[in-house]
Amino acid sequence: METKTSWRRILRMSLAVPLAGTIGSFWTQIEAASVNQQQSLSAETISARQRFFGLDNVDPKTGAVRANRVILSWTGVSSFVAAFRGHVVLLDAYIVRDGGASVGIWPSIQYIGSTPEELAAVKPELILFGHSHFDHMGDLPTVVRANPDALVVGTAEQCMDIEEEVTDVSFHCLSIFEANADLGTVAEFPRHLLPGVGITAVKQPHSSGPADPEADPPFPWAVEGCRTFPGLAFDQFPVGDDEPLAWDAETFGPPSGVISIMWQIRVGHFALAWQDTAGPITGACQRRGEVGCETVPEAFASLPETDVRLASIVVAGRSVLAEHNEALAPKLFLPIHHDACGYFAKKDLEEFVASLPEDQRPMMWFLSDPGDYLRPIVFDPRAKAWRDGARPHWSWDQPDDFDR
Ligand SMILES: [Zn+2]
Repeated sequence: METKTSWRRILRMSLAVPLAGTIGSFWTQIEAASVNQQQSLSAETISARQRFFGLDNVDPKTGAVRANRVILSWTGVSSFVAAFRGHVVLLDAYIVRDGGASVGIWPSIQYIGSTPEELAAVKPELILFGHSHFDHMGDLPTVVRANPDALVVGTAEQCMDIEEEVTDVSFHCLSIFEANADLGTVAEFPRHLLPGVGITAVKQPHSSGPADPEADPPFPWAVEGCRTFPGLAFDQFPVGDDEPLAWDAETFGPPSGVISIMWQIRVGHFALAWQDTAGPITGACQRRGEVGCETVPEAFASLPETDVRLASIVVAGRSVLAEHNEALAPKLFLPIHHDACGYFAKKDLEEFVASLPEDQRPMMWFLSDPGDYLRPIVFDPRAKAWRDGARPHWSWDQPDDFDR
């Protein structure tokens, strides 16, 4: 089959060699982590897991997370505390807030009502880098210090940044892409490291503003009205002097900055794509000296079918949403990174998705803040909706078809 051939070819070219030498040294670490997961967890961890995943999804005695569901809990921007087959995984690591960047885009951490310490207390086995800007990985050092057994995975540049930042504990960061890997490079996470879960990474571009903002306007984000209107998030939750700082917030994050990974995570027939940022991937898409943006659609098309796509909708022009949607063809789309002013983008988003060609139009679930922060989003990976060849014609006004 054409897609399989392409998939294997890309994997052979890009990954087999660099990973082969490193798997062994991480195996022991993950084995140890798995053993730890079977022991009773601390009251603090059980409580944090209940907070993020919901009381129904966490064993109150052991802290084990329900294994027959995929569970996501939004902590703002593009970050999620997630569980796949009961394995706790962080997709980025940030509790949304200003964090010391003083760009005025986020209100106080009180708005979400959680803390970096509570995030760290969930005791993840695995932490995936989307990209390292402070509003994505700003709490990674805190999480790593509290969870030295957790495996961190990113590009060589991202691993170098966290290894330089956290030197007081011993932990492992797996470089799934070598430094300066081309965009569109595909890499598979070693399957035995997280049993029963398939994970694939694609090097992809960070967002960038549209070349012609009039013809291809971005969706509204952090709009002035949201930040100044009485009674809204910024008025109710002004940034305090004692807000916890994010990792390298004053420089918008560590040097690896815009280097970005798209992750596809699979359980059985169910496949989720997570993009904490999304940049142009067709036409004159090259930015910032990174090469290969035009190969990203082919890389996406080489992946197993994506069911659910969670992706940033900010900064880039609307055409970027259409390009990625066409390449990944998800059944369901959850826009992210709209933060505390999300509802200013909601109408435009709905209209834009409705305008996509009918055979490329996903159903959309809009995440609203603050109501959807820390609210478990639950998928049954065995549901008929995800099975190959059963791609139904979803009408986006029938959300009851999904178990949420
Ligand atoms: Zn960014």
